Amino acid sequence: MYSMSKMQVGFPGYRGMVGSVLQERMIEEGDFKEFDPIFLSTSQAGQPGPEVNGEPTVLADAYDIAALSGLDAIVSCHGSEYTEKVHTELRSKGWDGFWIDSASHLRNEPSSVLVLDPVNAGVIDKALEDGKKDLIGANCTVSVMLMGLAGLFKSGLVEYASIATYQAVSGAGSKNVIELLKQAGSLGSVVSEDLDNPAKTILEIDKKTKEHLISSDLPTDEFGFPIMGNVLPWIDSKVENGQSREEQKGLIETNGILGLEPDTIITDSLCARVGSMRSHGEALFIDLKKDLPMDELEEIIKSAHQWVKLVPNTKEDTLTNLTPVATSGTLEVAVGRLRKLNKGPKHLGAFVVGDQLLWGAAEPLRRALQIVISR
Ligand code: NAP
Repeated sequence: MYSMSKMQVGFPGYRGMVGSVLQERMIEEGDFKEFDPIFLSTSQAGQPGPEVNGEPTVLADAYDIAALSGLDAIVSCHGSEYTEKVHTELRSKGWDGFWIDSASHLRNEPSSVLVLDPVNAGVIDKALEDGKKDLIGANCTVSVMLMGLAGLFKSGLVEYASIATYQAVSGAGSKNVIELLKQAGSLGSVVSEDLDNPAKTILEIDKKTKEHLISSDLPTDEFGFPIMGNVLPWIDSKVENGQSREEQKGLIETNGILGLEPDTIITDSLCARVGSMRSHGEALFIDLKKDLPMDELEEIIKSAHQWVKLVPNTKEDTLTNLTPVATSGTLEVAVGRLRKLNKGPKHLGAFVVGDQLLWGAAEPLRRALQIVISR
């Protein structure tokens, strides 16, 4: 039963990976008390939806434009194809509600604002004052990087950054997460008897492993390649200059989130998929505009917002706290390996790790909805 005073908020894509994390966070924070949720599916309309505040729900049809037109806000965790079809039709029919989205389709539209409010609350406020109603989550890798290093980037200290990424399989979708685990199991089973057999040499085990990784027995339907025991240094399609689309987003969306003109801060990325589950790691080599002492730089980074966790540059602290295993499932974004580079005192090295399903996808959307509701 919907209340008359509360906002009606639709959630297409709620059962996907990003949508599930979003739901989990909204339950944790008690968000569902603040609005009436309507869960929608493109494939399961009429079936039972999630229970909300102890009440059962029934899934609505995510393609029903007439029903969607009655909503105050839509938070889509579906893909770009869904956005392209449904958002276009809704807006062309005059729908004036808030569209909050995890897909990339609307990110570079002038009518959109990228949302990552611990970093760009001012940009979001200005966009809402200007009447913008499309609030779009940015690329996961860029969002995690800026959550870690907002202090540096917002203070105007960054002349240039080169970024090497180590990206979690969850960024490729739930089927890819399952494939990583299937590959791990498959590889382990091939050598399991050899591991405790003193008669087997490590070279024999290595040879068997390599043979299995390139054999058709390894499940590779999703990645097309081994991800277990491997690194895949290409994510998404090719664009200009030999870059992948994921790498291009690094430049465009860093400036976009910060509300800067294109190319104000130049970055170059080399993006690789690795076998971590939920958290991306990113190594940065930053040219600063001026030489500042390390303690000042650390303070600038640490004081940006409450979720930055500065990790001391020691082996033990790094291996305990600056890893995907340490950050996954938490809102903390760890920043460490901070040091002046051999190139000179205006050059800083850093490593950032954060849960890409939280700050890279679901959490900025959850908070964007909160901002919209609180206005
Ligand atoms: P996903 O897990 O593939 O889910 C998207 C939709 O696929 C679901 O809502 C569901 O829609 C349908 N679906 C079909 N079979 C399913 C199954 N077995 N289990 C669950 N859902 C199933 O997609 P996603 O990874 O959440 O990504 C959603 C959007 O967010 C994409 O545009 C993506 O680019 C973007 N994004 C993703 C990440 C990430 O880390 N994955 C990060 C940032 C942005 P119906 O109920 O309508 O069938």
